Amino acid sequence: MNGTFAFELPLMHITFGITFLVAARWGERSALYFGIAFLCNAAGFGLPVMPMGLSDLTVAWVTDILFAVSFFFFGQAATQHFGAPRRLLWARLATCAISIALCIYAVVGLDDLHMELLASDAGCVLLLGLAMVGIRWQGLRSFDWVLFVAAWFVTIESVIRGTSSFFTAPSSVEDFGTSQYAYFMQALGSVLGVVFAMAGLSAVALSVLDRYHKMAMDDPLSGLLNRRGFEEALATRPDWRGRPASIVTCDIDRFKTVNDRFGHATGDAVIEALAAILRTRLPEDGIAARFGGEEFLLFLPGRTPADALRIAEGVRTAIEAEAAETVGMDGPITASFGISGVVASDFSVHDAIGRADAALYEAKHGGRNRVALRLLDTVEPETAARSAAPLVALERRTGSRRRSA
Ligand code: GH3
Ligand code: MG
Ligand code: MG
Repeated sequence: MNGTFAFELPLMHITFGITFLVAARWGERSALYFGIAFLCNAAGFGLPVMPMGLSDLTVAWVTDILFAVSFFFFGQAATQHFGAPRRLLWARLATCAISIALCIYAVVGLDDLHMELLASDAGCVLLLGLAMVGIRWQGLRSFDWVLFVAAWFVTIESVIRGTSSFFTAPSSVEDFGTSQYAYFMQALGSVLGVVFAMAGLSAVALSVLDRYHKMAMDDPLSGLLNRRGFEEALATRPDWRGRPASIVTCDIDRFKTVNDRFGHATGDAVIEALAAILRTRLPEDGIAARFGGEEFLLFLPGRTPADALRIAEGVRTAIEAEAAETVGMDGPITASFGISGVVASDFSVHDAIGRADAALYEAKHGGRNRVALRLLDTVEPETAARSAAPLVALERRTGSRRRSA
C-alpha cells in the first residue's frame, strides 16, 4: 500500500462513517446505510496497512469482501434516499455474493490480479449502478441533484478503472500493493470518497430539514396546513394577487357535544373526515388549512364569492351526508361556513378572513349548518380584530407581515 494514502484514507472514511451513523439518529435510514458503507470502505483501505501478519492473498480477498459489502450499502443508501423501487434488491444481493466468490477464486485459486479487479470492480459497478438505474431524475428534489450526480460519478469511475486495469495493473495479486495502479486507485478513492460523502451528508441534512419544515407547516391530525403553513403558502404563491379571491371559514357545529357524547377519539375522527371532504372539494389551486381546534379555512384564488358560495355549499351538504357515516357516529355532523371576497381595499388577506369570520358568526346565530356571506367591510372593528389577532401575532413572530397596519 502506498504510503501517501496509507492512513489518511481509512481515517477519512472512518470519520465519514461515524458522521453518517450520528446523522442516522435524525431518522434518516439512508444515513445508516452510508455509515456502514464508509466504515466497510475504511476497513478495506485500512487492512493492508495494519500490522496483523496476514498474507497478501488473505488481505486481498478480505478487502474485496469489504468493498463489495460497502458498495451494496451505498446502493441501499441511494435506494432509500431517492425512494427508488426495491425490486432489484435480490439481484444486488446475488451480485454481491457472486462478486465475492469470483474475487476469492481469482485470488486464492488463480493468483490473477486482473481477474480479481475485474470481479471486484464489475461487482461495485452493478451494486451501485443497479440501484441508480431505478431512480428517475425527473422526480428529484432540488437538493438531491448533487448526490445523484456524485453516485453516477462513482459508478462510472469504477467502470473506467475496472476496464483500464487490464492495461495498467500488474498481473499478480502480490504485486498490487506497490503498483502504480494501487496508487491511482487510492488517489481516486480519496477524492471520490470526499465528494460522495459531502454529497451524501448534504442530501441527508437537507432531507431532514425538509422533513422538519413540513412538520412545522402541516397539521398532523387533518393533514391540512396549519396557520404557519397557510401563511407560507400564501406568501409563496404570489400569482393570486390582482385576481379575484375568496375566503371560506368553516367551523364544526356543536363539536363539544360530539366530544362529550362520543369521546375525544371520535371527535378526532370527525376532524379527519371533515378534512378529507375539504380536500376532495378544494379546487386545484386552492389552499386548505386547519386554523384551530375545529375551525378550517379555504383560500380560493381566482374565485368570486359566488363561486366560493357554491363550493362551500357543496362541502356543507357533503359533511351533512357523509361525515357521521364515515366515523360510524349515530347522529348528525354539520358545519357552518362564512364567506368573503378579498377586495382591492384590503390591506391583506386577513381583512377578508375577518369578514368571513363575521359571516360565520352570523351562520352560527342563524341556526348553524348553513353558509353566510359577508361581501364588504361591514364587519364590526372588534370582530375583525378578534379574528385576526392570532394571525397578526404569528406574523409578528415570523416577520411575514408586509405592512405596518
Ligand atoms: P359551535 O357550534 O358554536 O361551534 O359549538 P362548538 O361546541 O363546536 O364550539 P366550542 O368552541 O364550544 O367547542 C369546540 C370544541 O372543540 C372544544 C374542544 O374540546 C374541541 N376540540 C378542539 N380541538 C380538538 C381536537 O383536536 N380534537 C377533538 N376531539 N376535539 C377538539
Ligand atoms: Mg370554534
Ligand atoms: Mg364549533
